[in-house]
Amino acid sequence: MSMQFKCPKCGDKRLFEMMKDVTVESVCSWDESLGNLVYGEQTNGAGEIVLYECDNGHVLRNPDGTLVRDDEEIEAWLKTHQKET
Ligand SMILES: [Zn+2]
Repeated sequence: MSMQFKCPKCGDKRLFEMMKDVTVESVCSWDESLGNLVYGEQTNGAGEIVLYECDNGHVLRNPDGTLVRDDEEIEAWLKTHQKET
């Protein structure tokens, strides 16, 4: 079962996960006519989650004010805000 995200501040339904230190592996080839690399399939490696936010930059926070930064916290956040709607 999936829980629909909805920003309590602006109602935006798109949730963004910001990560850092992510290694991206891309299939690429050189395109002679374009004069640059053309990228195909990309695979994201593990990285560190920095924060979660809506499309308007409202950052998700735990009840104690710290940033939501892992699966457990995002689950708790969604459950809490699901009850309110
Ligand atoms: Zn928002």
